Amino acid sequence: MAMDIAAIRREFPILEREVNGRPLIYLDNTATSQTPREVTDAITRMYTSTKANVHRGVHTLSQEATDLQEATRRRVQKYINAAEPEEVIFTRGTTEAINLVAASYGQRFRDGDEIVLTVMEHHADIVPWQLLRSHADIRIRVAEINDRGEIDLESYGSLFNSRTVMAAFCHVSNVLGTVNPVKDMTAIAHSHGVPVLIDGAQASPHLPIDVRDLDCDFYAFSSHKMYGPTGVGVLYGRRSILEEMPPYQGGGEMIRHVSFGHTTFADLPFRFEAGTPDFVGIAAFASALDFIERVGLENIARHEHELLEYATGRLREIERLQIYGTAPGKSAVISFNVGDIHNYDLGLLLDRMGVAVRTGHHCAQPLMERLGVPGTVRASFAVYNTREEVDAFIAALHRVLAILA
Ligand code: PLP
Repeated sequence: MAMDIAAIRREFPILEREVNGRPLIYLDNTATSQTPREVTDAITRMYTSTKANVHRGVHTLSQEATDLQEATRRRVQKYINAAEPEEVIFTRGTTEAINLVAASYGQRFRDGDEIVLTVMEHHADIVPWQLLRSHADIRIRVAEINDRGEIDLESYGSLFNSRTVMAAFCHVSNVLGTVNPVKDMTAIAHSHGVPVLIDGAQASPHLPIDVRDLDCDFYAFSSHKMYGPTGVGVLYGRRSILEEMPPYQGGGEMIRHVSFGHTTFADLPFRFEAGTPDFVGIAAFASALDFIERVGLENIARHEHELLEYATGRLREIERLQIYGTAPGKSAVISFNVGDIHNYDLGLLLDRMGVAVRTGHHCAQPLMERLGVPGTVRASFAVYNTREEVDAFIAALHRVLAILA
């Protein structure tokens, strides 16, 4: 089905604004995607008609708010094909989801235990594991990549041994766009009896997620990268493993009974949801999933892929431009540098022309080190981007390069 991109764009009021006197060309979708009116309407509706704290009141508003939150939980469960809604834990985002697993599941790790990561991890999937070193001397082993940005499964398997206690990896790299063979990587980890966490922050806006087919133990993602509100994320956890984990944060909602001597904890998922959640954002997240399902993930992915191919071809025409990440089937992210021009200079001047791209290390400093650069410029696409925007971006880049020459 051909998509009516003009109609889709009209659902995103922000795309009508200008930046520095030029029409905004928003190519920073990997950092966060823009939000359609149906999601902002859902937020407004909640604030103007249904705002009340969840799970605490017998009154009508509280029950309605609770129903909306729990409806989103069931919606997410179906979206990722989890076995039950109790396996869906709401967090602030991917970062908090990974911190939850590291802080809670990681309590069982001991001196000498090893965690297998990959060189392309976002800091959100590195630092939480390092923090465990305050209680145990944990070793991190790192899967390397080839020059296209791919992981070799054979050498991946060689990183596991009897001390390995966790494997964590991104589904899609936020810098290279590589779509990792996560099902195979999960099977390799499981063949060594090692649980798996998948950082799905860059996969969930573009690819269908089926946690049961992947057979992963944990899967983390963020609403704000999926056309949804900020402040909401999801940790999927397999029930059998979540049930063995100690609470993450203490407070309201996560308890069954509290006395000064002793506290007993609530069942899943509430045991991991201390305090008032972003129930407005959670309720509105369902509208973002509605948007994605209405447009169709396959249509979104196809459109983004076309833009990726087109933009890659146009960029390759530019002398001294180097693209990082060329794996077949990659996601719609292009990281690049031009000669020895600093990525900030390119980004700043592109912004003067209305083009929003990301610059810097993209929270992936170990990957930058592997690539041998301090940072890159990164253009990334979403459903509402157009070929005309790619043309305008390329034209702006030519002008920037002429200025810097
Ligand atoms: N993991 C990856 C691969 C990401 O790209 C990001 C954000 O860019 C994160 C984790 C962190 O997501 P959040 O900031 O929504 O917690």
